[in-house]
Amino acid sequence: MRVLVVEDELRLAETLVEILKENGYTADMAADGDYGLDCAMSGIYDVIILDVMLPKRDGFHVVSDMRKNKNQTPVLLLTARDEIADKVHGLDCGADDYLTKPFAPEELLARVRALSRRQGEVVLEELTFGDLSLRLSASALCRGEKSVHLGLKEMEVMRLLMNNPGQVITKESLLLKIWGTESDAEDNNVEVYISFLRKKLQFLGSRVSIGTVRKLGYHLEDTV
Ligand code: CA
Repeated sequence: MRVLVVEDELRLAETLVEILKENGYTADMAADGDYGLDCAMSGIYDVIILDVMLPKRDGFHVVSDMRKNKNQTPVLLLTARDEIADKVHGLDCGADDYLTKPFAPEELLARVRALSRRQGEVVLEELTFGDLSLRLSASALCRGEKSVHLGLKEMEVMRLLMNNPGQVITKESLLLKIWGTESDAEDNNVEVYISFLRKKLQFLGSRVSIGTVRKLGYHLEDTV
């Protein structure tokens, strides 16, 4: 489960990230609205915690721009004042829930849990491409009756490829999105996982393959 914290007050942002990490989430920070929107649009987050008062672009604009661009990641809005107008405006802009500062960590965690469950229902449980289907909750890649189990990173790589059919995904973006900015994973980690996945595709006898675009990255090909 990956959470994005968009908050310009550094100490609060760091505290939130710490709380999330202690509770088993992967968490990233963005300190202004423009960068927050960029990160949100990557589509890799399960929940976004979004402050309203932000430099460059406020939280209301971030969430409404996300929705305009068809990004449906659940958003928990942090409002500084307990004002009904702010909450209503936030929900109208497309936020899913809100929390008034200051709040207890338990309450934050409960809201994040609720939103990630909601996401689980809305987001496709199964992704398909060509003759393949990826069953997210079972961590299984299937073709017809045949299926193989995928490890966590394999799942994430496959999910990213299947979510962006026909698009070339660069090694750099795979590294960043799956291993994160703090990791010291290198290009060859990506290659290793791609080769695992290729073996599994072969095992399944799928007509789908992972193509390499030299010096660029990878994409799924359906060889019909
Ligand atoms: Ca703020």
